[in-house]
Amino acid sequence: MQRLPYAREAIYRIRPYRPGKPLEEVEREYGIRDAVKMASNENPLGPSPAAVAAIQEHAGKMALYPEDTCFYLKRDLAASLGVPEEWLLLGNGSDEVLHCAALAFLSEGDEVVTGDPTFVMYETNAHLCGAVPVAVPLKDHKHDLSAMLAEVTDRTKLFVICNPNNPTGSIVSRSEVDEALRSLPSHVMVVLDEAYYEYAESPHYPQSIDYVREGRNVLVMRTFSKIHALAGLRIGYGIARPDIIQALQQVRPPFNVNSLAQVAARASLADPEQVRRGQAVNGEGKRLLYAAFDRMGLSYVPTEANFIFVDTRRDSKQVFEGLLRRGVVVRTGDVFGTPTYIRVTIGTPEQNQRFAQALEEVLKG
Ligand code: PMP
Repeated sequence: MQRLPYAREAIYRIRPYRPGKPLEEVEREYGIRDAVKMASNENPLGPSPAAVAAIQEHAGKMALYPEDTCFYLKRDLAASLGVPEEWLLLGNGSDEVLHCAALAFLSEGDEVVTGDPTFVMYETNAHLCGAVPVAVPLKDHKHDLSAMLAEVTDRTKLFVICNPNNPTGSIVSRSEVDEALRSLPSHVMVVLDEAYYEYAESPHYPQSIDYVREGRNVLVMRTFSKIHALAGLRIGYGIARPDIIQALQQVRPPFNVNSLAQVAARASLADPEQVRRGQAVNGEGKRLLYAAFDRMGLSYVPTEANFIFVDTRRDSKQVFEGLLRRGVVVRTGDVFGTPTYIRVTIGTPEQNQRFAQALEEVLKG
């Protein structure tokens, strides 16, 4: 990248986010039709019909700025979570909530402790603020909380637990988080990124709102992008003590959540089938894919999310290419430092079958 004399040095430390190509481009390039994207952990069932209807109904009102504080949505969300409205901050995706936390809390030279591999935006936001990301290798594909705790210094500000972790789908249990919270000093805030919260099935998965209730230094982040299938509208939220939320409000841009996202999220929250359907299809898909991997003799990380991290035991870029030619888009593991792994998003039964068959062909070929 060409260096500019007036640019901040910190921006050159950022690894660019590499989104996949548009599906239409993939189809054009490979001369295929009906390609399926199993690469970005989206909900293959799509949004609630009630959310789509709400968007259509509000489409004519785009001349007006959105409601700045997400007044009605915040009221509904607070009721649905059983927390006061003052504990909530809505963002342009949970990405923006994280960005607000970075802007509010990180100064030059501060440290952000994360797992490795994990969601790249923790590192990116640290760099944006001139802070130092401290990436601690996972152990058995799981956050190694004691190794992460050992990296905490006087400069540590954020301690990020991606739970379930992207890309591995693993979780840390309630007792593990309890213990970490007990040993962390008071100048450290724990970010619990729960983008895949609704998909977690384990009885040991923490109910993180309890930590907020206990008054801990915790910011829980969730999103409407995944099980609510509203990724295209960009809307997510943070749950934390009111004083933490107030600090984030200081750096939140005005009108940050667009009005279609607000009405769609409200409608989706009011549709109990949206989450239930997503969970059912995901659970079923997970078991189908496990069986397929077992048949192929591939090892995978048991997932608590809507994607599976699987070891193809060969260069995942080649596997990726082979799958692409058969119209299936996944994520390669090289970006996560695990070059033989792929991350595949759990799809509909048909998509899962198609992926499994394509993978079998690619591995034989
Ligand atoms: N956290 C994790 C772990 C994610 O995987 C993602 C999306 N890929 C996000 C946060 C960002 O979600 P949002 O769409 O709400 O910004």
